[in-house]
Amino acid sequence: MQQIVIRYAEVGLKGKNRHWFESLLMRNIKKHLAVFGQCQISKIHGRIILQIDSEVQPVQTALQFIPGIANFSITEAASHDMTELAEVALSLTRRFLSEQPHAATTFKVSARRSDKTFPMNSMQLAAEMGGQILEKLPDLKVDLHRPQIDIGIEIWPKNRAILYLEKIPGQGGLPSGSAGKVISLISGGIDSPVASWFMMKRGCSAVFLHFHSFPFVGEQSRQKVIDLVTHLSRYQPESTLIIVPFSDIQKAIKADCSEKNRTLLYRRMMYHIGEKIRSRYRALAFVTGEAVGQVASQTLENLNCTAAVTTVPVLRPLIGMEKAEIITWAKKIGTYEISIQPFDDCCTVFQPRKPEIHGQLQDITADESHLDVNQLIDETLEKIEVLTFQTQVQNKFWI
Ligand code: ATP
Ligand code: MG
Repeated sequence: MQQIVIRYAEVGLKGKNRHWFESLLMRNIKKHLAVFGQCQISKIHGRIILQIDSEVQPVQTALQFIPGIANFSITEAASHDMTELAEVALSLTRRFLSEQPHAATTFKVSARRSDKTFPMNSMQLAAEMGGQILEKLPDLKVDLHRPQIDIGIEIWPKNRAILYLEKIPGQGGLPSGSAGKVISLISGGIDSPVASWFMMKRGCSAVFLHFHSFPFVGEQSRQKVIDLVTHLSRYQPESTLIIVPFSDIQKAIKADCSEKNRTLLYRRMMYHIGEKIRSRYRALAFVTGEAVGQVASQTLENLNCTAAVTTVPVLRPLIGMEKAEIITWAKKIGTYEISIQPFDDCCTVFQPRKPEIHGQLQDITADESHLDVNQLIDETLEKIEVLTFQTQVQNKFWI
């Protein structure tokens, strides 16, 4: 059985709600790790302890995707007995040296005690352990600033201690579900998957909503969105993707409305339908990948015309970012390679030659009144497709 000790991010700062956040994080971890079989999970003042029987590497990969985890360590357990602590510290050091192709020469011991009855303070304990390691491995040198081996020791109450070699970084952020549910408008582009990830990392659980314009847009663009959601489903325990057929609505807009307003009216119809889905799922906000001025539909006037359909917040975590910055994030979270596959989005269907750049709400709603919006919504809702995804664990990706 292997013990993994998890340190959490902002959850630790949540005052009276802390217990609720911790329990939610533990529940999420259990769900994410369910594919690996049984694991035992418990908590001890500011740490979550995971005991697993399965192989460590895949569990380690899965933990790195779970929002709310600051970092974690694969640990060895010990008591407060100095001889035992020194033995474990030495065996960890020897293990590190045996696993490194070029043997390390410098080390440091970092100690921390949450049990103030332990007879030494952290500095004294680190110095004592360092001295014992040097005695047995005299070729090593202490380097407090850039050590090759960093041996961590935490002294816990009730005669418990842990030792480890590494703090493996997690996602940070807040546990999935702690901030409520959002409807994430996802295209096959670069931006919206990044926007979804930003909000998932802040504790939102995302229900993905995609508008697909079959047969004007091919099956491959639908598959691309499924691939994106499959990838993003690593960041929350369960995901839902709702695919809405959009071509009839686009045909109606083409037939009955002004050419220059098409893109804005497409977007408004996404919100009209989105509103129905939002109340079905009891979601509290929308998420989009918009950034001011990036394309014609993203001027401030046009953002006003589209979001005016809804009264709940439209969260746009990328609003002030440049494309290059968004691409860097897309690469980091692993969606970029999927997003750059060259399959069209529905917004390219019947694209106006000269789109409206400074839309005025009264003009756009007047143009929209040429449509039977309610009937279009009702007909479309009958044809939606709902796909569900369990969290994915693959070793393939993580930077
Ligand atoms: P992205 O890279 O996310 O596609 P974009 O820069 O191409 O964004 P637009 O095409 O104007 O910008 O889309 C703006 C936002 O509208 C997207 O980020 C997404 O949230 C939403 N959106 C666009 N197309 C769709 C679609 N087919 N289904 C659901 N939402 C969409
Ligand atoms: Mg797009």
